[in-house]
Amino acid sequence: MTTRADTSTGETPRTKPDKIRCDACPVMCYIAEGRAGACDRYANENGRIIRCDPLTILDSRLAAGEDLVPFLARDWDGTIAPDAELFPTAIGAGTTYPDYKPAPFLVSRQIDGADFVTVVTEAIFSYCGVKVKIDTDRHLGPEAAAVRAGGEVIGHVTTAEYGSQMLSLGGVDHLTGGSKSEGRATCEAMLALCNGEAVTLSVDTGAEVVVQAGQPPIVDGQREERMRVGCGSATIGMFADQWQGLVDEVVVVDDHITGVVSEHQAGKVIDWPDTGIRIKGRRSTPGRYFQVAEPGLGWGGTDIEDPLTILGPWRPEKGARPGLTLLMVSTTGEQYGYYVLNDDLIPEPAPLPAALKPTVDLIEENCEPALCTVMFMGGAGGSLRAGVTRNPVQLTRSVQALKTTVTSGGAPVYVWPGGGITMMVDVTTLPARAFGSVPTPALVAPLEFTLRRDDYAAMGGHEGSIRSLEDILATGGEYGAATKGTGRP
Ligand code: SF4
Repeated sequence: MTTRADTSTGETPRTKPDKIRCDACPVMCYIAEGRAGACDRYANENGRIIRCDPLTILDSRLAAGEDLVPFLARDWDGTIAPDAELFPTAIGAGTTYPDYKPAPFLVSRQIDGADFVTVVTEAIFSYCGVKVKIDTDRHLGPEAAAVRAGGEVIGHVTTAEYGSQMLSLGGVDHLTGGSKSEGRATCEAMLALCNGEAVTLSVDTGAEVVVQAGQPPIVDGQREERMRVGCGSATIGMFADQWQGLVDEVVVVDDHITGVVSEHQAGKVIDWPDTGIRIKGRRSTPGRYFQVAEPGLGWGGTDIEDPLTILGPWRPEKGARPGLTLLMVSTTGEQYGYYVLNDDLIPEPAPLPAALKPTVDLIEENCEPALCTVMFMGGAGGSLRAGVTRNPVQLTRSVQALKTTVTSGGAPVYVWPGGGITMMVDVTTLPARAFGSVPTPALVAPLEFTLRRDDYAAMGGHEGSIRSLEDILATGGEYGAATKGTGRP
């Protein structure tokens, strides 16, 4: 930190309180006594820059979400728990920025009789994004369509997955490559999503969706309840034998792969007779049809409300006959209809027979709850590595060689193969409000690197800065001494 003496002008000298400079990010705020900086994460307390949030220690003896503030103050008999029960996260640790100095805390730990070091730092990510998985069949928008928050483009629709629509949000281009308001909106939306808040997103030429990690999505005002049991073809495969003998034909309506039991392989192997049905979509393989309708918010992620619109004329030469029965059902079982062919081979609606109801219910029962999943993804292969070792590439190599374990707020991360340290973490596995931001704009996420102490020495680590957890709890660090313990989420 740097002290700046204010100057006064005019005939009557005025005295302004000294401000001190926070150098925890490139914004370099000058902060007056008792005030916080632009990110609300650092403040000037008695002429010293402190981190406003306490250093968070995960304590496996505590129930999830239970906090002790300050750490170990309650019922503490003076003994420190074994290192394996305590994990020093980077939440509240402060940052190594501008990377000329060792990470805020390098913690020595004894685990199973071996010496380990955990390096903790709050990393500033200009290169980061959020991958969102939304469990819904409903069409949110075409692939590559822009996704907006507060009117600004912050990402796009990406490749759909099985039963889920996917969004790719954030990234350096939206943070830094557009207008100032685009960068700010991107940062705010990502921060809110990562901290478990609900964010309303709108897709160009598509739907409005409210996304919140671990909660059901709300699509155009409708709360999604169920994730589909599978595609239409898979549903046929799962339940064909349970329909046999109860109905003459079953169609499972799906935007991607609509299934027809009499033609499908699953029907053939149980000798399901032909019915002469005709489907309007593009036939892929027997009993599997693509593009039976346009994508939308209707049956099985299509735009249809009346499933009969996907049927062509029935063929008597292939088995169609008056009295033939037909069940049409969506991939979640939420929509279904029962029909009987009249003398003109036109399906007419009829009440669903009691014997068939359990098969529809079974589809619903096999659907999992629809949720939103928010994965934070960031590149930790940049300059923060200098806070871990004097030879930064050694950290990358150590991570890639599985000698160094990377965690975020104590949560396991997935590290992508290939170059750099590109990690991904489920935001619901971190303690509450673990993420922050700075106005550059960039997100701040906790990172911990844990490795054997001898490996740390070998990679050129800052050995002289290693401290015991007891010492850290007793005296704190550069940004203060406040600590708290919490259970794992
Ligand atoms: S934005 Fe926050 S971290 Fe950056 S200089 Fe200001 S107070 Fe410090």
